[in-house]
Amino acid sequence: MALSPERTVTELRDLQELTGDENGSQRVAWTDTWERARQWLREKAVPTGAEEEIDEAGNQWFTLPGQSERALLIGGHIDSVPNGGWLDGCLDVMAGVEVLRRLAEEGTPSLTVRLVNWADEEGARFGRSLFGSSAAGGSMSDQPELRERRDAGGIALPDALAAHGVDLDRALDARGQLANAVAYLELHIEQGPVLESLDVPLGVVLGTFGVERHQITFRGQAAHAGSTPMEQRRDALAGAAKLELELREIAKRVGGGAVCTMGGVVTRPGIVTSVVETAECLLDQRHLDATQLAELLSNAEAASRRFAEEENIGVEWQKIWSIEPIPFDERLIELADEAVREVSGASHRLPSGPLHDAAEVARAGIPTVMLFVQSLRGLSHTRLEDTKEEHLELSVQALDRLTTKALEAFA
Ligand SMILES: [Zn+2]
Repeated sequence: MALSPERTVTELRDLQELTGDENGSQRVAWTDTWERARQWLREKAVPTGAEEEIDEAGNQWFTLPGQSERALLIGGHIDSVPNGGWLDGCLDVMAGVEVLRRLAEEGTPSLTVRLVNWADEEGARFGRSLFGSSAAGGSMSDQPELRERRDAGGIALPDALAAHGVDLDRALDARGQLANAVAYLELHIEQGPVLESLDVPLGVVLGTFGVERHQITFRGQAAHAGSTPMEQRRDALAGAAKLELELREIAKRVGGGAVCTMGGVVTRPGIVTSVVETAECLLDQRHLDATQLAELLSNAEAASRRFAEEENIGVEWQKIWSIEPIPFDERLIELADEAVREVSGASHRLPSGPLHDAAEVARAGIPTVMLFVQSLRGLSHTRLEDTKEEHLELSVQALDRLTTKALEAFA
């Protein structure tokens, strides 16, 4: 029995049937439905001959012993957002099960192959994404804060975890799981519109974007809308408006896939009879290259000062959050490109806007690459999320090819 990508599609539909409803997938981490999904996965993965283990962070591992203890990892996440799509995360896991089946039938692989179902990638219940992978990767450093987190119903995060056998204080012990890892592969739906717009089924991910998030406050003077002549106004919104449009030029100038978003502007006093006194803007800038990300930021800062001067208003910047770009492994990117071309005839290299578990593994120093498969209309985190069946099947084949290539390259 060879690889059966059709079976993966059938299993994904079965999983949706088991853990979804008319509003979409409901496999939110640390819930009964998620536990049911993990039990179902166990029933699929263990018959391949893989041994199951759940680590200190709640990650579910299936290990197929190889001729060497050095391990090739394949990962995904079976948890979903509430009312989520049927493919986000679980495509990777189920494609991985199919690859395990194929490998087990062919005998003992040269390297140990481990499939991991990461715990709580989405952070849907407690607002903390990449829980299991950041614990295993060793970057988790927010336990004091996590201890205080509660869900919408007032249940504390440590209690919810304990109900599923996870002790928050011991989660970082999951680090041992990466000890023998030589490479990490992850297949995911794109969740964006790029591959569809290029009419290419599969792509290779170059890495995850670095992100700079800032709050920018323009300060002018509230003044009567009727009695204040136009040339005497100190209108904070004018600075914000100019900056919002300039962001397009900045992204274009820096290039290389740069994206800049002003996600919100709150104006005060915010009444129809007053010039705006303060405009608080939320800015998100992303790039795959650290130097160019810094350039995006300094360009936006300079532009904001220029506009403040033009409008005779003040401007202040406050950092909200940032993360550096995480590039994937060049050798694996080449292998992934080959695998994708062999399977579908064409490949496209692209960065990932969303963060993924793969970013945490790469950050831990394990050579990593991701494959993307086209998302229809670029939609995800909604029940409308979809991918053509033929593309799903190609993606399983591509992951399988890449696994073979990685086993040879890292043996
Ligand atoms: Zn996902």
